[in-house]
Amino acid sequence: MKFSLVADTLRYMENTTKRLELTQHLVDLFKITPPDIIPKVVYLLQGKLRPDHEGVEIGIAEKIAIKALSKSSGISVKKIDHEYKETGDFGQVASKILEQKTQTTFLNQDITVERVYETLYKIAELRGARSQDMKMKYISSLLNDATPTEGGFIAKIITSNLRLGIADYTILDALSVAYTGSKENRPILEHAYNVCSDLGKVSQAVSKDGISALKDFQVKIFSPIRPMLAERVKSPQEAHEKMGQEFAAEYKLDGERVQIHRQGEKIILYSRSLENITNYYPDIVENIGKSLKVNEVILEAEIVAINDDTGEFLPFQELMHRRRKYKIAKAVQEYPITVNFFDVLLEDGKNCLDVSYKERRKILERIIVEDSFAKVMPMTLVKTDNEVEDSLENAINSGCEGLMLKQLDSPYRAGARASNWLKLKREYRNELGDSLDLVVVGAFYGRGRRTGRYGALLLSAYNDQIDTFPSICKVGTGFTDGSLDQFYQILADKITVKKDPRIESGLEADVWFEPELVIEIVASEITLSPIHKVAMDKIRKGSGLALRFPKFTGKIRFEKTSENATTIDEILTLYNSQKRVIQDERQT
Ligand code: AMP
Repeated sequence: MKFSLVADTLRYMENTTKRLELTQHLVDLFKITPPDIIPKVVYLLQGKLRPDHEGVEIGIAEKIAIKALSKSSGISVKKIDHEYKETGDFGQVASKILEQKTQTTFLNQDITVERVYETLYKIAELRGARSQDMKMKYISSLLNDATPTEGGFIAKIITSNLRLGIADYTILDALSVAYTGSKENRPILEHAYNVCSDLGKVSQAVSKDGISALKDFQVKIFSPIRPMLAERVKSPQEAHEKMGQEFAAEYKLDGERVQIHRQGEKIILYSRSLENITNYYPDIVENIGKSLKVNEVILEAEIVAINDDTGEFLPFQELMHRRRKYKIAKAVQEYPITVNFFDVLLEDGKNCLDVSYKERRKILERIIVEDSFAKVMPMTLVKTDNEVEDSLENAINSGCEGLMLKQLDSPYRAGARASNWLKLKREYRNELGDSLDLVVVGAFYGRGRRTGRYGALLLSAYNDQIDTFPSICKVGTGFTDGSLDQFYQILADKITVKKDPRIESGLEADVWFEPELVIEIVASEITLSPIHKVAMDKIRKGSGLALRFPKFTGKIRFEKTSENATTIDEILTLYNSQKRVIQDERQT
């Protein structure tokens, strides 16, 4: 398949911000893509070679890319460097340089998707002393045969600058239309994706065998499952309304969620956003086998930092000391942890997703041998509001954030935030002091002491129905000098030339970012706003919702992706319950 077909689609997509048009371009491309090539196309469209959890990084330093471009165009490194400094967009520079190419090659071949993909794959696998030279050779040979448009996109992909905002859900929509004839089948595709977290695999199955191939997509070891999420509730009464009379109340610990895959000696740990985090926790790899009675198993647990002397749980931030590349052994010593199991998704090769919570819990208790390092999450069955209150009190006294309430007969709903799991934190009961996890989408330069850094950030919630990031507030309080520096550095990588099409806001930020970083915010109230776009027109025509007096809590939620941020529905629920509280207060 000609790579120009992909490059042309990417070019059309660059020129539109309308989601419907973006999806239609993808549908047109998928319809002409053969099944054995579709996974490659799907990965390349997102600037990847494999799903994120496999950690295959193209990783080319800009210096090497510039040298390769110079070699294939005959234009000097100095000139390319200069152009690059002027525009700041390596893709544009590559297109422009390839147009001015002084060396003509006579045997220019059409480049194919297969060739681009395989060359980039070889580059990603190169290691060792001569690897930089080899990388340069591979790229320059590719650019040599590329048209300016193709070369531009290859340049963007290799320097990780392909930023078209093509989210997983947009691709699922397009696959559904292209291969099943309608968007109606998207939930089936989504389910398959939630079980295997690999869009390439889903696209290949549906393009070859249609929708029937997806219906019984099975859980597989070392293929992480998208985690089930919880809705929040404010009171035991609300929990009873949603879940019926009897349910389980587990501790809600404040740590890092981990999906542990074990097959014999091999153990891989995936974070909540399905990144491979095995390297940060060598102590789990070393010790956990002793606590597991089964050979092939997928489990979920909360890793919590503890005080070694007292055994007390420590806050989430302490765990972040483990997120380092070097001196891991020292961090293991200094920041000890416990692993608290709360679910089982595969037991001895058997899929457990469709098994009820009650049965999964029984399996968990049977297969885990507890010791000081590995624990089963404490749980009690509760029936009355008083019992929920008592459990909450107990959990908080033991250093937990609150409770996770789980419906006894519910299956594990991969990737879904549903009312089969509810979270009840104490702070939710204090009306407006609620915390939200919001996505940093833009920033405004600071003044005075904050000159040269950002003075305020623009934040968005997530609309999981249509995959957009409507803004909800501008926040400038709660930051220390240290945290402002930290934000400036972290966000430098995420700056985009154009606003991502999924961001919706009435404000014009000085700088726009990839919607990726999630931070925790508290606020005094949710109010109507003509500027912010969350739940636009839902409460009142022409108004969205905004946070009043937002404040950064100091927590950067590195473990969350932007799709895990607080959703529009959650904000609407908070807004409505806030109204109820105000009415109740007025009546008493
Ligand atoms: P939140 O991050 O506030 O949406 O709460 C959900 C998170 O709570 C999960 O992703 C887990 O990391 C964590 N958690 C703590 N204890 C439990 C538990 N018993 N069951 C499920 N998740 C838990």
